[in-house]
Amino acid sequence: MLPELQDVYDRVIRRNHGEPEFHQAVREVFESLDPVIEKHPEYREHAIISRIVEPERQIMFRVPWVDDSGSVQVNRGFRVQFNSALGPYKGGLRFHPSVNLGIIKFLGFEQIFKNSLTGRGIGGGKGGSDFDPHGRSDGEIMRFCQAFMSELHRHIGEHTDVPAGDIGVGGREIGYLYGQYKRLTNRAEMGVLTGKGVPWGGSRGRTEATGYGVVIFADRMLQTAGQAMEGQRVVVSGSGNVAIYAVEKAQELGATVVTVSDSSGYVVDEAGIDLELLKQVKEVERGRVSDYVERRPGSRLVQGGRVWDVPCTVALPCATQNELDHHGAEALVKNGVAVVAEGANMPSTPDAVEIFQSSHVLFGPGKAANAGGVATSALEMAQNASREPLTFSEVTSKLEGIMERIHFKCATTAEEYGRPGDYVLGANIAGFRKVADAMLEQGVV
Ligand code: NDP
Repeated sequence: MLPELQDVYDRVIRRNHGEPEFHQAVREVFESLDPVIEKHPEYREHAIISRIVEPERQIMFRVPWVDDSGSVQVNRGFRVQFNSALGPYKGGLRFHPSVNLGIIKFLGFEQIFKNSLTGRGIGGGKGGSDFDPHGRSDGEIMRFCQAFMSELHRHIGEHTDVPAGDIGVGGREIGYLYGQYKRLTNRAEMGVLTGKGVPWGGSRGRTEATGYGVVIFADRMLQTAGQAMEGQRVVVSGSGNVAIYAVEKAQELGATVVTVSDSSGYVVDEAGIDLELLKQVKEVERGRVSDYVERRPGSRLVQGGRVWDVPCTVALPCATQNELDHHGAEALVKNGVAVVAEGANMPSTPDAVEIFQSSHVLFGPGKAANAGGVATSALEMAQNASREPLTFSEVTSKLEGIMERIHFKCATTAEEYGRPGDYVLGANIAGFRKVADAMLEQGVV
């Protein structure tokens, strides 16, 4: 890393105590930037690097609500509005007990470059709460969402900041959040949130978009090696929104998906995951992967192990950050993995990424591979503005084009900078340059 990048990185560590995920995300981008900074002295002169690591605004707030037993609960809410050089802040809301400011900042920082790669005119932001939705009744979820929006509504808007879902926030939660926003503002401002229900401003295909996009990206990576998804043996982690639709798309393209997981363990189903059963258990009943195993003869549940020990040719981590460490990476490489495409945000640790790259495994970082979700959110915003809904096949064909272009951009940028096949470098540089140029043109703000 160039000394000036190192200086800014050291300052990030000093000024952002106890936020290891944020440090990790910054470091991962900075490690790609030496050649860009050397080539563009104007980025130096205008302190682009120091400015880009500092969120434009960070909001933290109390979220008091009443549970079913009548007790008052207090959670913490966050919204980090990181960078608006390319458009309104855009990024999901995460409800998970592990959420803290550092996690939201890492996600918001990643989101800047991901959104830039989509080419859709959206800035980077992220938010959420340490609220744990597991085991909560529908009424509790609604009251929590209403309490959360009672504060958040004053900071967002269709031209300001447009949240969406993430871990623990799906269609149900977006519905409650939007209902409260509308009640408080007396505005049917549909473009303020994405991931809405189709009858009230949602986009067809948004639910599927992230998972589908990851598989399309993996397919394009395979094509560079003269292969395709058809016939691949795929390991997927997670069993939420991204994982389910990654399974669906991979199966549609003729691959066999043999695993899904949640925080209690992973399922191995050699015959291929039964998608209808998985959707029934996870989306309808909001159950656990163990419920899947109970109803699926021939499948088995492994508790406490690593899903990455299951042999495969394609691995799609779709659960959470740092879920794939060097042990997992070594096991995947030993078993002959050819492609790893990240459905989750930063699921691979830095040493895992290094193992993939030094073993010539094609590695697609989340900020490129999972950008299909936010790109489709941008399509949802466009449909809200024009009041002209798209059909499912119009959305999915646009998604395919967007993923194709992101793949092309990452691959050609990596080549331009002398590192063909390095999607990490390609994604970081292509994502960064567009934001940096916009910041230059907009002056010191
Ligand atoms: P969901 O809440 O729908 O699903 C999350 C899944 O990951 C669940 O199976 C959950 O299991 C598992 N998981 C979460 N945290 C942990 C943990 N600490 N340890 C083990 N398993 C865990 O979330 P999404 O599918 O929406 O998001 C998954 C990932 O994809 C996240 O990294 C998110 O940031 C990223 N992403 C999501 C996008 C979207 O459009 N939804 C867009 C781009 C990226 P359990 O229920 O047991 O916790």
